[in-house]
Amino acid sequence: MGEFDLIERYFKRPATRAALGVGDDCALLRPTPGTQLAISSDMLVENRHFFADVDPATLGHKALAVNLSDLAACGAAPLAFTLALALPRADEAWLAAFSSGLFALADAHGCELIGGDTTQGPLNICITVFGEVPVLNGKSQALLRSGARPGDDVYVSGTLGDARLALDALRGALTLPPALLAQARRRLEQPTPRVALGQALRGVATAALDLSDGLLGDLQHILKASGVGATLDTSVALGLLAARRHADWAPGLIPVEKQLECVLAGGDDYELAFTAPPSARDAVQAAARQSATPVTRIGRIELEPGLRLVDAQGQRLSGQFSSFDHFA
Ligand code: ADP
Ligand code: MG
Repeated sequence: MGEFDLIERYFKRPATRAALGVGDDCALLRPTPGTQLAISSDMLVENRHFFADVDPATLGHKALAVNLSDLAACGAAPLAFTLALALPRADEAWLAAFSSGLFALADAHGCELIGGDTTQGPLNICITVFGEVPVLNGKSQALLRSGARPGDDVYVSGTLGDARLALDALRGALTLPPALLAQARRRLEQPTPRVALGQALRGVATAALDLSDGLLGDLQHILKASGVGATLDTSVALGLLAARRHADWAPGLIPVEKQLECVLAGGDDYELAFTAPPSARDAVQAAARQSATPVTRIGRIELEPGLRLVDAQGQRLSGQFSSFDHFA
């Protein structure tokens, strides 16, 4: 199978939203008048971002999911994407599974594959997504990292830390009951981009970003861009580990230190972290309901720079923070 047969067979589908899709030198997009284009790229490299033997259907899902997550963080509605693919060989079973996982997620979000590039080489997947955000009265409605203000609440969507738990289990660093591992592994391999929540937070959140590298490290980007600091309640954060609610969870299964590490510094969660003033609490809950995505208030933005952790009693965890710092 040659390069062009491969593209034709696995990646070319009739364009519906784009003016021109796969097959010419450029694709042509038709952005809605009165919107800005939001654009983001993410690359997945074998053995760095995924294991070589990962199920290709979940890999197709994840390659697009991590990109859609960036659109979600900006409050953008997905439009289209391109796919640059380096493949060691044209393995038809692999391609069929990969493209089915990819298109299932693409279709769920009305996001169209409009072009790309295909070459032979070590497995490497690079997707660029295009989305749009409205401009109202000359002002972009995109959510940025720079808008957090002292007094704002800090929220995260969904659950945190389970992807890292699965990663540690797959590496043999810890042992999980099979059903619990399966649940955590789905979080690692098939993250859910919070696309509807991101759009519902336009005009509500003051700052937002998606969590790819771990809560503590990623949140610092909002703090830096906004010129503020924050305090997070670790007891609330701990409750975000979905594994703790699993039927096979037992106290002592995973040391609390490890749980905290997964939640605070785990990475690969692809949840949204965002800020909003206390006056917007009802609006935040409405956005959560409208997008059927749970959100949890985990802290507060402060004038004092830096990120502080407290326990349920409000006691500062200074020693622990520095030990988490190097995971970030
Ligand atoms: P060019 O040589 O002009 O860069 P190519 O020969 O690489 O174009 O690709 C031919 C067409 O197939 C183009 O429209 C390109 O966007 C598309 N294409 C190539 N690889 C992929 C892919 N992996 N997924 C989707 N479209 C692809
Ligand atoms: Mg080419």
